[in-house]
Amino acid sequence: MSDADQIPGPLGKARHSAWRRNVAPVLRVIYAGLPRFIDVSLSAALILLLSPVFAARAVQAKLSCGYLFEREAMLGRHRESFDRLRFAGPAFGRELPVLMNIFRGDMSWVGPRPRAVDEGERAADAEGIVFLQRPGLISVFHLRKNVGIAYEPEEVVERDQFFGDGIRRNLGVMARFAVSSALGGDSALPVPPTIDFFGVPVVNTTMDEALDWLLARAATPSRTLAAFVNPDCLNIAYRNDDYRAVLQQAERVLPDGIGLRIGCNLLGVAMQANVNGTDLFPRICGHAAEAGVPIYFLGAKPGIAELAAQKMQERFPTLRVVGTHHGYFTPDEEADVIRRINASGARIVFVAFGAPRQELWLARHHSSLAPSVRLGVGAAFDFYSGQIRRAPQWMREAGIEWAYRLYLEPGRMWRRYVVGNPLFLYRVWLQSRESR
Ligand code: UDP
Repeated sequence: MSDADQIPGPLGKARHSAWRRNVAPVLRVIYAGLPRFIDVSLSAALILLLSPVFAARAVQAKLSCGYLFEREAMLGRHRESFDRLRFAGPAFGRELPVLMNIFRGDMSWVGPRPRAVDEGERAADAEGIVFLQRPGLISVFHLRKNVGIAYEPEEVVERDQFFGDGIRRNLGVMARFAVSSALGGDSALPVPPTIDFFGVPVVNTTMDEALDWLLARAATPSRTLAAFVNPDCLNIAYRNDDYRAVLQQAERVLPDGIGLRIGCNLLGVAMQANVNGTDLFPRICGHAAEAGVPIYFLGAKPGIAELAAQKMQERFPTLRVVGTHHGYFTPDEEADVIRRINASGARIVFVAFGAPRQELWLARHHSSLAPSVRLGVGAAFDFYSGQIRRAPQWMREAGIEWAYRLYLEPGRMWRRYVVGNPLFLYRVWLQSRESR
C-alpha cells in the first residue's frame, strides 16, 4: 500500500498529492538542468556542423601563427579561472572556439558578462553574485551595448544577476539579441566622430562623454544648444530649412534611437551609442544634483513639468529645480516666461515642446536666454512624471521602443513610424549612393 492510499480524503486528492510528491521534484530537476542541457547540445551540434570550418581555420592558424589558440584568462563560475579560446591570427571565425568553452561548461549561451581575471578580482563584494553563474556568450550587458542603451548606474549588478534562473528568460535574451543584431549592430565598421545626415552633422559619441561635456558646458558661461535627433526629426530637417539651419548651428546634435544606427550602417559607419534625450535626462539630473547645478523645466501640459521635477527630486534629493513652467503659453506671455527662467539662476534649461518646436524656440531666443545649456527633450517630462508609460525593458533592449509608442498613440504616430522610418532609410540610402 502506498502512502497516498493511507491519506484520508477522496481518492482523487490522494493521487494528486502523490503525483506532486513524486513527479514534481523530478520536473524541478529537469527544469534546473535544462539550461546546461541546451548549452551542451547546442554547442555540440554546432561544433559538429561546423567541423570543416573548424579544421580549415585551425590549419590556417597553425600555418600563419604557429599555434592554434589565443587564450584569455577569465573568471568563471565560483571565481574559477578558465581560458577563453579564440583562433590565433586575424581571420574569419576567430570566435568559433568559444563553442568549446560552452561545451566544456566554462561559459553558457546566456549569463552575466564575462569578466577578465584582473577585473574579476577587483570586483566589489556586491558584484560577487555574478560569479554564482556561468558567464554568458550573450548577456544583458551585450544586449544593451548592441542597441546602445546605457545602464542606470544602480542597475548594473542587479541586471547581471537577473539570469541563470530560468530557461524562458535566457531564450528571451537570445531572441532580443537576435532582433537587435538584425536591426544593425555591425561592430567592424569605422566609427567617425560625426556622421552627416542630409547636411546635419550628428556627433558620434557615448552617453558618458556627452554627459561630461554637457556638465562642463553648464559650468561655464556659454550658449550651448544641444539637440537630439531621431529619424522623424531628420525627416523634418530634410524639408524644413529653418530647422535644418538650427541643427547645423547647434553646438551638438546627438543620435537618438535604433533608426539612426541602421542609417549609419547604410552609410557604412558605426554609431557608438544611442545618446537619446529620454535616457540622458535622468542622468543629467543626477550629475547636476551632485555638482549643485540648478535646472529649469519648461514645457508639457500644465502641471507635468512640476510633477517631473518632483519625481527627479525624490530620486536625487540634492537636485535643485529652480523653476518650472508649462509649454502652452501665448506669444504675449513669452517675454515673461523668459524673464522667469533668467531670474531663476538656472544653468541648464530643459525644453519639452517636441521637435522641431523646441529647437526653433531655443534658436529664436538664443541671445535673450541666460542658462548656459539649452536642451530640447521632447516628451521626457511626460515619461518621467509617469504621464506616458515608457516601453517595457525587453522592447527597449530589442531596439523597438518606437513600436510601443506606435501602439500607445497609433493615430498620431503612424505617420512618424510606419511612413517615417522607411522614408528616412530610403533617403539615407539615396545619400549613400550620391556620396559614392
Ligand atoms: N508641447 C508643449 N507645447 C506645445 C506643444 C507640445 O509643451 O505647444 C509638449 C507636449 O505636451 C509634450 C511634448 O511637448 O509633452 C512633446 O511631445 P512629443 O510626443 O511630440 O515629443 P517627441 O515625440 O519629440 O518626444
